[in-house]
Amino acid sequence: MTARAQIGVTGLAVMGRNLARNFARHGYTVAVHNRSFAKTQSLVDEAGSEGDFVPSESMADFVASLARPRKVVIMVKAGAATDAVIDELVPLLESGDIVVDAGNAHFPDTIRREEALAAKGLHFVGTGVSGGEEGALNGPSIMPGGTRESYESLGPILEAISAKVDGTPCCTYVGPNGAGHFVKMVHNGIEYADMQLIAEAYDLLKQGLGASAAEIGQIFAEWNTGDLESFLIEITADVLQHVDAATGSAFVDVVLDQAEQKGTGRWTVQNGLDLGVPITGIAEATFARALSGSVPQREAARAALRADATPLQVTDRAAFIEDVRQALYASKVVAYSQGFDQIAAASAEHGWDIDRGAMARIWRGGCIIRARFLNRITEAYERDQDLALLLADPYFTDAVGNGLAAWRRVVAQAATAGIPAPAFSSSLAYYDGVRADRLPAALIQAQRDFFGAHTYRRADREGTFHTEWSADR
Ligand code: NAP
Repeated sequence: MTARAQIGVTGLAVMGRNLARNFARHGYTVAVHNRSFAKTQSLVDEAGSEGDFVPSESMADFVASLARPRKVVIMVKAGAATDAVIDELVPLLESGDIVVDAGNAHFPDTIRREEALAAKGLHFVGTGVSGGEEGALNGPSIMPGGTRESYESLGPILEAISAKVDGTPCCTYVGPNGAGHFVKMVHNGIEYADMQLIAEAYDLLKQGLGASAAEIGQIFAEWNTGDLESFLIEITADVLQHVDAATGSAFVDVVLDQAEQKGTGRWTVQNGLDLGVPITGIAEATFARALSGSVPQREAARAALRADATPLQVTDRAAFIEDVRQALYASKVVAYSQGFDQIAAASAEHGWDIDRGAMARIWRGGCIIRARFLNRITEAYERDQDLALLLADPYFTDAVGNGLAAWRRVVAQAATAGIPAPAFSSSLAYYDGVRADRLPAALIQAQRDFFGAHTYRRADREGTFHTEWSADR
C-alpha cells in the first residue's frame, strides 16, 4: 500500500464520518478506518465522490496508507474506547507521528495520554471540536492542544476545515497537553449557562406576558438582530415557533420538562470547585438541569410547598420585554466572565499560557455558543491580555451598567412572583459580590477562628492572628 494519505480518521460514526468528508472536500487525501468495516464502506459508498478517500479494513493497513509524519484523528466514544484505539494504534506508529483525539475527552485523561505518548516519541493532540455533526461537516470550531511542534504540520489542515469568520479560521493552537480539551469543556459549561439563561428569559416572558410560545419566538427573533445575536438565540426563536405535528400544539409545550446532560457541565463545575473559581452561572445551570430531573422531590414539593407569590402584573409590555433582554445580556456577560476566569486559573495552574482573546475569536463561528458579542471579548483581551475580570473591561462595564436597573427589576419581579430564575439571580449576586467594597466573609473568618482556631488576617495590619475566644467570653 502506498503511504499517500495526508490525514487519517479512525472512528466513522456521525462525527468522524463528517470530519473525514470535510477533510476530503478541502482536497486532502483521507485515510479512513472504523472498528467495524461497515461504516467505512458506507462512507466510501455514499460520499466517495466528494474527494479522495483511502479505506482500510485493518488498523495496520490504515496506518500504512498514511504519509509521514502520520496524522491520525481518533473520533470514537470518549473514555475506554479512546484508550483501546490508542493501544492498538501506538505500536504501529513511529517517532514524530501525531495522534489527534478529537472526541470529548476529559482533560485529565488527555494529560495522561499525552505524557504516555510523548515518552514514546509521539505527539498527542487532544482537541476540542464543537458544532455537532453539522459543524464537523461544514466547519467546526477546533481547539487543539499538544505540542507547538505538532501544530506546525497539523494546524494548517485543521484551520482549513474549520469555520471561518471574516476570513479568520475558528481554530488556533490552545496550549500544551490538556489545554484544548479543557477549553472545550469550559465552552460546553458556558453553553449550559447560556441555555439556562435563555430558558429563564422565556419563562419570565411566558408568565409575564401570558404570551404563546410562537409570540415569544418572535421576540427572540427580534433579539437576534441586536447585541444578543447568536446561534442559541436564533434556534430558540425557531424552536419556540415550531408546532408539534402530532397534536398541533406548540412543540415546546409537549416536551417533558426534565433536562438531561452528558457530563461536560458537571466536569466544568467540578473543576471550578477544584480551582476555587466561582463559576456560579455554569453551576446554577447544571444544578437547574438536575432539579428539573429530581422527579420525586418535585412531586413532593408540588403537593406541599406554598408559593405566597404575587403574579407578575405587566402593564408596559415593551418595557418588560426590554428589561428581560437586558437582564439576559448582563447575566450572559457574567457567565462568560466567570468561564474566562476559570480558563485563566487553569492556565496558570498547568502552565498552559492560554490566550483568552484567541479563544473568544475561535468561538465566533462553527460552535454552539457562536455569538456576535464574542468579538467584544476578543477586543477586551486585545486591550489588556492580563485583564483580571472581563466584566471590568470598559466596554462590558458600560454594557452591563446600562442594563443594571432592568436586571435588578427582573430578578426582584421573579422573586416576588415565585418564578425560579436561578441563573439570572445568581449572576446578579455575583456582580454585587465581586464589586463590593467589603464582604461578610469577615464574619465567616471570625466564626472559623472561634470554633476551629483557623486564624484570620486583619484589615488594619499584616500577619496572621488567632483570638483566645474562651478567655474573651
Ligand atoms: P459515538 O457514538 O460517541 O462513538 C461511536 C464510534 O466509536 C463508532 O465509530 C464506534 O465503532 C467507535 N467505538 C466505540 N467503542 C470502540 C472501541 N472499543 N474500539 C474502537 N472503536 C470504538 O460517535 P460520535 O457521536 O460520532 O462521537 C465521536 C466523538 O466525538 C465522541 O467522543 C463524542 O463525545 C465527540 N463529539 C460528539 C459530538 C456530537 O454532536 N455527536 C460533538 C462533539 C464531539 P463501531 O462502529 O465499530 O461501533
